[in-house]
Amino acid sequence: MSALVSFVISQAISFLILYLVLFSLYWWLWGEYKDNFKKWQNWPTLAEYWDAHPESRTRTGTRCYRCGSAHIRFQHFTKSHDGMLIHKCRQCQTTLYRSAYSSTRTA
Ligand SMILES: [Zn+2]
Repeated sequence: MSALVSFVISQAISFLILYLVLFSLYWWLWGEYKDNFKKWQNWPTLAEYWDAHPESRTRTGTRCYRCGSAHIRFQHFTKSHDGMLIHKCRQCQTTLYRSAYSSTRTA
């Protein structure tokens, strides 16, 4: 009987440790995502970028406000591809604005 009790207790402890490890991992990843999201939100949206630099909005598309180049590329803001994009000038490497995408298209 006491062998069964100690077996149950040792199982409970190992489950508790597993739970704590998973919880701290989850908390750490969530914190990192939140930090990245805040950093990403510091960049203007395309509308805000147009407001700040009206000359960059042309009939042929958006241009870089620093060098006037129309070659703007986007890249994922984080390595984990969590929907945050950042748009940079291909010529002078200036970060211009942010946008978001969703992997689940509804339209
Ligand atoms: Zn540029």
